[in-house]
Amino acid sequence: MSHSVRENIKQLRQEIGNVELVVVSKYRTIDELNQAYQSNQRSFAENRVQELIKKKELMPDDVQWHMIGHLQTNKVKLIAPFIHIIQSVDRIKLLKEINKEAKKNKRVIPILLQIHIAREDNKFGFTIDEVIQIIESNQISEFENVKIIGLMGMATNTPEKEIVKSEFNKLHSFFNEWKGQMKWKTLSMGMSGDYPHAIKCGSTLVRIGSKIFQ
Ligand SMILES: *Cc1c(COP(=O)(O)O)cnc(C)c1O
Repeated sequence: MSHSVRENIKQLRQEIGNVELVVVSKYRTIDELNQAYQSNQRSFAENRVQELIKKKELMPDDVQWHMIGHLQTNKVKLIAPFIHIIQSVDRIKLLKEINKEAKKNKRVIPILLQIHIAREDNKFGFTIDEVIQIIESNQISEFENVKIIGLMGMATNTPEKEIVKSEFNKLHSFFNEWKGQMKWKTLSMGMSGDYPHAIKCGSTLVRIGSKIFQ
């Protein structure tokens, strides 16, 4: 049975309620993106800079682009003029570079700190302890052109739901503990395979690709 992009988005929106939907458009054609756009979808995410820029040029101007992949510092300047949120900030050096390029563009760029919660080593991100150290050292105050609006995390890719849930719960409790003081508002967790768990564990934003474009 084949579902249309429009139907998939409609069903997903009903299912997730108030949780924000960011459509992950990596590997998809402009035609597929346009089907999502025609369902009033305006937030799209890519994990590679070149692909993101190519698609930005072909899509309408009111699309809000999210970066969700590992980002090389030398490519920050290419997205700094327009990127809506960089969700995958996984090291201080990158934060510094984003701050520098945001300043050049007279912008304050919203970002999420990516936290490593999965068991797999191939995923990027800060540990929770590293983030606490950064917060307590007050290092963040020097980054005037970056606004940390929350956290992002990816759970282990496993059918064992207890593992996935415990990872999401861990990230959510850290988020809750600091959100008041840090003025965090976004907790980005959940993809096609695990978003129902992520939402139960307190996600405010899901990043979904394959379930929409299947
Ligand atoms: C690809 C990707 C997603 C979406 O994954 P799907 O399983 O296609 O929904 C979400 N987040 C990140 C960081 C990704 O790279």
